[in-house]
Parts: sequence; C-alpha cells; structure tokens
Amino acid sequence: MSHTKVIRSDVLGYCMGVRRAVNTALKAVEDASSDLKITDKLDTYSERHEKVKTLGPLIHNRIALEQLKRRGLGQIEANDIDSVSVEKDPIVILRAHGVPPVTKRILKEKGCKVIDATCPRVLSSQKRAASYAAKGFSVILAGDKNHGEIISISGYAEEQGQPCYVIENKNDAELLLQKHFSDENTRKQPVVLIAQTTFSPEEYEAISAVLRVALSHIKILNTICSATYERQQALEDLCRKVDGIVVIGGKNSANTRRLYINAKRWMSERTDILQDFVVHIEQASEIPEKFFSLKTVGITAGASTPDELIDEVEKAFN
Ligand code: SF4
Repeated sequence: MSHTKVIRSDVLGYCMGVRRAVNTALKAVEDASSDLKITDKLDTYSERHEKVKTLGPLIHNRIALEQLKRRGLGQIEANDIDSVSVEKDPIVILRAHGVPPVTKRILKEKGCKVIDATCPRVLSSQKRAASYAAKGFSVILAGDKNHGEIISISGYAEEQGQPCYVIENKNDAELLLQKHFSDENTRKQPVVLIAQTTFSPEEYEAISAVLRVALSHIKILNTICSATYERQQALEDLCRKVDGIVVIGGKNSANTRRLYINAKRWMSERTDILQDFVVHIEQASEIPEKFFSLKTVGITAGASTPDELIDEVEKAFN
C-alpha cells in the first residue's frame, strides 16, 4: 500500500464535445441492440457489432477505443468512404471533429443512417467558414493540415467556390503572403482567419499579427476552444502543489502530449524539489515504481481520456 496523496487537477479528462460524441455513439449501439428481438440478442451480437460504426476513430485513446469496440461500436477508416455500403454499415456516426459536407452527402446517398456527433463548437466554425466564403471571403485556417477538423472546415469553405488555405505557424503565414497576396490588389481583398479549436493561442496571436499588418480587410475570428486552455491553467496551478505529475491519455493525443510537455516545464521551474517527476501514461499499470514513494502526486488527463482510466490511476495509489 502506498502513502502517496493524490490530487486531481480541477479540470481534466473528457471535454464537452468528446463526452457528447461518446454518449451519442453508445446510445446508438444500445438503440440498435434494442431493435433486435430479445431471443435474438445473444446470437446476433456480432450482427449488432456491425450495425453502428464511426467514420474514423471516435477519440484519440487506444484503450477507450478497445472498450467501445467490446461494447459493440465498429469503425470505418476515415478515408475509406468508397468502401462504405448500407448493407454492412447501416448506421454511421460522425465524430466530434466533423466531416466535409460532401462526405455527409455520399453517406446519405448510399442509404446509411447518419448520426452527427460533431462538436457544436466545430459546427460553428464550419458554418462561419461557409458563410464568409459565400460572401466572397478567402478563408485561411490555422491548424494541422491533416487533422479531421481542419479537413471538415476546409470542405465547407471550398464548397462555396472560395480559396481555402491552411497554415500551421507564423512562418507559413509569411510564405502564404508571398505566394498568394503579393500585390496591392490581392491584399485588399476580403479574407477571414479561423483557428482549429485546439490551436495554441500564442501561435494564433503570432499568425494574426503577421496577417493583420499585410491584409487590410482581414477578419480574425476567435474560435479556439477554452477546453484545452482550462486544462493547461489547472495543471499549472497543480504543478505548484505536488511532488510529481501523472498525465493520463493516448500517446497519439496531441492535447495530452501538450499537457505532458508543459508539466515538465512547470515542474522543472520549481526550485524546492530536487527532481521533476513527470510521466505520461495510458493506463494505471504503467505508473513508474518511484512515484509510489512520493508524498503527493497530481493527476491530469487529456480531453479524450475516459473517467474509468483516471479512476484506475487514482485507485492504484490507495
Ligand atoms: S476541444 Fe472543444 S471544440 Fe474540440 S471537441 Fe472538445 S469541446 Fe469541442
């Protein structure tokens, strides 16, 4: 038994959009299951398993995805829309990042029932991109080119026939100006800048500063979601109070990795502790032995980490 006191971060785990998407998917699986006759239920488990699928992984957490799979939720590869058929994929869930409008149309034309679990904040960015593009604005997106959310928002802007550029940092912003807004005329055209909801506020400010100077008619929208910022703020506060930090979340989750990197930084700034104990784990069994000899450990978790995994880590210290 360990004598370590565990303190949870004030804000951790699922954000509103991810929790909503997971609950929507689980309800769809339950509804699909209750459509079967009671006597059919055991024999048709695999059939039920095939009925509800998400387009791409629902969340960036390997263990949570395995749990969802065991509960009957299937998955289609995000870029394999051509292979979708109503016979094998009758109910398709759209995840929190959303999809381009053309993807929704194709699924409906194929006869699939589409359940849209796009986060309301991402829906708002999609609508604003479409609305500005419809008014003749060029759209600049600040975010990760390969991220589902950016791909979905680009689709809404491009559908209106307007150019849509994606930039990832200040350097990209300077290159964009040289390439597409190099003369007086193009610099006076209406342009709107939209951020990926999980984009870094500091990087967005740096990009905005570069574009604001050159483009006289630019509209800069504040679309960054507070979920990431709130987790970071609460973690910074926690780092002042504990001897070690355990960050829980998928190794492929960008927001979890950012929590880990910042925890390392904030703990290394402490002058009252000899060593900074910070670890990023996916599950309780990965907690390093040395953490059990600390007096206090703080825990935080990324926006796609389920409650059960957080509870398990806390219990491991009891
Ligand atoms: S981080 Fe924000 S925008 Fe993204 S899914 Fe969560 S609540 Fe929605």
